[in-house]
Amino acid sequence: MQEITITKSSQSRASEVDINHIPMGISFTDHMFVCDYSEGQWKNARIEPLAAIPTHPSAMALHYGQAIFEGLKATMGKDGIPVLFRPEENAKRMNFSADRMGMPDFPEDLFVEALKQLIWLEREWVPTNEGSALYLRPFMYADEAYTGMRAATSFKFIIFATPTGPYFSRKIRLYAETRYIRAANGGTGEAKAAGNYAAAIRPTELAKAQGYDQVLWLDAQNFENILEVGTMNIFFKISGKFITPSLDGSVLAGVTRSSVIALLRHKGFEVTERVVSMKEILDASQNGTLEEAFGTGTAVGIAMIDEIGYRGQVIKMPESNPVSQDVNQTINKIKTQAVEDPFGWIVPVMEAQLV
Ligand SMILES: *Cc1c(COP(=O)(O)O)cnc(C)c1O
Repeated sequence: MQEITITKSSQSRASEVDINHIPMGISFTDHMFVCDYSEGQWKNARIEPLAAIPTHPSAMALHYGQAIFEGLKATMGKDGIPVLFRPEENAKRMNFSADRMGMPDFPEDLFVEALKQLIWLEREWVPTNEGSALYLRPFMYADEAYTGMRAATSFKFIIFATPTGPYFSRKIRLYAETRYIRAANGGTGEAKAAGNYAAAIRPTELAKAQGYDQVLWLDAQNFENILEVGTMNIFFKISGKFITPSLDGSVLAGVTRSSVIALLRHKGFEVTERVVSMKEILDASQNGTLEEAFGTGTAVGIAMIDEIGYRGQVIKMPESNPVSQDVNQTINKIKTQAVEDPFGWIVPVMEAQLV
């Protein structure tokens, strides 16, 4: 693995902001990790003061959209050492996305090491309030200045960090979209590609104008089966059993989704990944067998769903979600090392004995 050179900023801005009371995404830590790709190789891995990067007007990402990203959180562990949650999963998914978008693999060990070194350097930025975290945004884009249409040959991989407070815990209203789609099999829905979000912005704005929080995406053929929410995967509990749409080619494989499945099974619940239709959810809501409904994602953890608008109807979701609340708390406790981590999900950013 290549060495990461570190250039420290002359002064930290950490003391200027109240990191325990900050909305996500508006303040950034002092440093960023940057690595350049050219001539078939990743080069010059470095941590340097966070700064704007000059962009050539013909940088290919701006025109043809070769841009992918990841998102994960560091929380404060029990010895004052920040910890990451399953970062290898993000490293793997980044390369899955890169492959789909014709972009180069980024070494998974360097991905995790870069996160560790950046977070250790920025440790005074890791919030300690319950539910707060340092959000890490690794991403890759084509920065080659070329106007023809082909895969780029030069890329940047960058990680920056932004402290985040607890996400809204109020229940969310979802608009089941029957005009626009997010993904179809064979498309890019399985990749965490920037363009997927570009295509979702307008439908989401329209749903918000109708009083909804996010779009619930349905299958591209008939708008009958559920895929996922804007930035979350989705789960339902019907008659004591959990179901979630299977990863059939149009669904983003969430790390939170896979963690929730593992935890639910660990707690003795049956979880099935399969086709989930709107009709089934409507019926279960009406006949009283629908017991829980929630979305899962790194940014939100677990978000309870209030109601779903679908073809002119408003489908009411259950009042309380005791099992998913419990799972949410367990995940949060694992992330702060308040309880045992039976799955080996937690990765400290520094060996305790070296501190
Ligand atoms: C990132 C993302 C998720 C959630 O994935 P996590 O790894 O749990 O954060 C779900 N759906 C989409 C479309 C996403 O981009």
